[in-house]
Amino acid sequence: MDSGFALKRKDYGSTFRKRIHCSAQQPPPAWPGRAVVEPDRKTWDGPKPISVVGSTGSIGTQTLDIVAENPDKFRIVALVAGSNVTLLADQVRTFKPQLVAVRNESLVGELKEALADVEDKPEIIPGEQGVIEVARHPDAVTVVTGIVGCAGLKGVCRLIKKMYSTISSLSSDRDLPVDKLKDVKVFDALKHPNWNMGKKITVDSATLFNKGLEVIEAHYLFGAEYDDIEIVIHPQSIIHSMVETQDSSVLAQLGWPDMRLPILYTLSWPDRIYCSEITWPCLDLCKLGSLTFKTPDNVKYPSMDLAYAAGRSGGTMTGVLSAANEKAVEMFIDEKISYLDIFKVVELTCDKHQAELVTSPSLEEIIHYDLWARKYTAGLKISSSLSPVPV
Ligand code: NDP
Repeated sequence: MDSGFALKRKDYGSTFRKRIHCSAQQPPPAWPGRAVVEPDRKTWDGPKPISVVGSTGSIGTQTLDIVAENPDKFRIVALVAGSNVTLLADQVRTFKPQLVAVRNESLVGELKEALADVEDKPEIIPGEQGVIEVARHPDAVTVVTGIVGCAGLKGVCRLIKKMYSTISSLSSDRDLPVDKLKDVKVFDALKHPNWNMGKKITVDSATLFNKGLEVIEAHYLFGAEYDDIEIVIHPQSIIHSMVETQDSSVLAQLGWPDMRLPILYTLSWPDRIYCSEITWPCLDLCKLGSLTFKTPDNVKYPSMDLAYAAGRSGGTMTGVLSAANEKAVEMFIDEKISYLDIFKVVELTCDKHQAELVTSPSLEEIIHYDLWARKYTAGLKISSSLSPVPV
């Protein structure tokens, strides 16, 4: 099962939909200039300089695949990894960045050893400072951040004026009846029928938390009200998002379920790059035959209601939801909790946070409650009654 979201104005109290009405006085609900190239955008000669934060992960390696396929279009200036210094060293040999960072400071010696025979050695900066320096590398025109959680948030928020994101639908499901969900094991959740992704996002696809998180992303990126964002199940994973305009037209974005496509467009934006049929064959709609849709099951997947509720609470609640979910996924992968416990611990953590919700948080408060949520989630006692223990 895959699902996407549609942006629309829907009147839940009646059988008809309202359209989003725009006038000269009332601009469309989106960040002004969101799809416009800023006049003060950096210029560059030759291939576009790119920094990658999280270069050894799923998003990072797919970004580097695209760069390797298009050396005349893109080049790498800086890379960050968490701990995988072996792969990072290989990437340095291939892409010759000027700057490299490894978040796990204790591995810097190992990285230097692995690069001992490299002629043009990059500068190496360890720890969080390294993440910041890579994100704000003076030559980088585009920074791809592929880190799970808020690890890179501080650096990226401090340094980047605007962020652009392509959102696609990725969620997964084996159409299990609700009474079988309690038996879902790590191995089952890490299988995805259409997409090949990192562990965390694959589990999110099995719980549909990825859809809930995308609803929150859509709210902030497009300025849409939560009532105007709808999740739609689409098993073929070909349509990734749809927008309903005020005259009832629906614009859909179609493409192969391959994360490299949105990454490629993120790198090339506002241009589109020619891709050979070997990389991506034409989308043959006649061969595909049919594209189908259905309403998601909110009882089977409470993640969506939890995400809408967190989004409507606003402030620090969305960060708490995201952090609690990340911790819960980690605990599920480590076989400390069951699949269904993921929903429970996220709900308990969000409930607990209600009393301390900060509606207009600073970056420090967002990070504080992110850390709090991880700690609180980790401290929850997992039993049939799932009673939280104070942290
Ligand atoms: P992975 O787990 O595959 O990769 C995470 C990357 O971040 C690795 O390079 C890891 O390094 C690095 N890393 C981990 N912790 C830190 C840290 N504290 N500081 C610096 N680097 C760190 O994740 P994905 O690539 O799958 O996902 C990245 C993000 O993109 C997630 O937020 C995910 O939800 C989102 N996303 C992913 C999609 C996908 O298709 N994969 C699709 C849509 C969204 P190392 O391995 O060396 O330790």
